[in-house]
Amino acid sequence: MQWLQFGDGLMTTPGLVEAVGFIKTSHSDGQVPDVELLNLGGSIVSDNGGAFRKSLKISDKTYVTAFSGLHGCDTWSAVPILLHPKSKGCLELRDNDPFSHPKLYGNYFTDPHDMETMKEAVKYVIKLGESEPFKKYGAQLYLPPYPNCHNHSPGSDSYWECAIRTMMVSLHHHVGTCKMGPPSDPEAVVDPELRVYGVDGLRVVDLSVLPRTVSGHMTAPALMIGEKAADMIKKIWSNVVV
Ligand SMILES: Cc1cc2nc3c(=O)[nH]c(=O)nc-3n(C[C@H](O)[C@H](O)[C@H](O)COP(=O)(O)OP(=O)(O)OC[C@H]3O[C@@H](n4cnc5c(N)ncnc54)[C@H](O)[C@@H]3O)c2cc1C
Repeated sequence: MQWLQFGDGLMTTPGLVEAVGFIKTSHSDGQVPDVELLNLGGSIVSDNGGAFRKSLKISDKTYVTAFSGLHGCDTWSAVPILLHPKSKGCLELRDNDPFSHPKLYGNYFTDPHDMETMKEAVKYVIKLGESEPFKKYGAQLYLPPYPNCHNHSPGSDSYWECAIRTMMVSLHHHVGTCKMGPPSDPEAVVDPELRVYGVDGLRVVDLSVLPRTVSGHMTAPALMIGEKAADMIKKIWSNVVV
């Protein structure tokens, strides 16, 4: 009611995400950021293990062991996102029924480059927490005692690898299953006007046509691809100059 009537109050908070940052680790190509930091004015414990943790599909055992000690504390987090993972997943048709769900293979962290990038990003976040602006608020690093990581010394390199594998989630930013490219590219599925090679009268208009990942979230590129495709189709089917 507060929000509907007066346009202020708790409902105006930006879904926990107060800020985003983009960094280049030593593993980036030097041109574009390879990690995004989602800065949350809270964390997985902010609702004491309610909805947030369930949406991340963290098991009871892991959550209770690793995080219940933080209940009631004020928390802040900067979640590192790999913008350009080298690990590639794939999908496979289950059968020839168009209503069958495809088989999806994430293959997360199969390329060691991705783990090294994540570990460096974690170190960056730790330094961020130790910087003056955060010290002012008494920010302290919390090393969750993950039940499956107890044989790694907290804060060690192997601890962080175990922690990252334990807490890794997808941000649902999958792209590239119908790559756009020139006819000379054996991996290309659609041409630069999004027409499927070898099939007449069929275009693919979604994020699957992206030949590579972008340094950001996916809704804006999806809208741009849709707008561009609409313009190209209108141009072909009418005399309207677009
Ligand atoms: C939970 C979640 C949260 C997200 N949060 C964000 C966010 O905060 N910011 C952001 O930028 N991005 C976010 N994303 C990512 C973004 O929403 C997606 O990357 C984007 O919507 C994908 O667009 P698309 O057009 O490629 O595919 P989709 O949006 O998946 O569209 C595909 C469409 O094709 C239809 N379809 C499927 N099969 C057929 C068929 N055989 N015939 C006809 N139609 C078919 C589907 O019904 C669907 O409408 C989020 C994604 C998820 C899942």
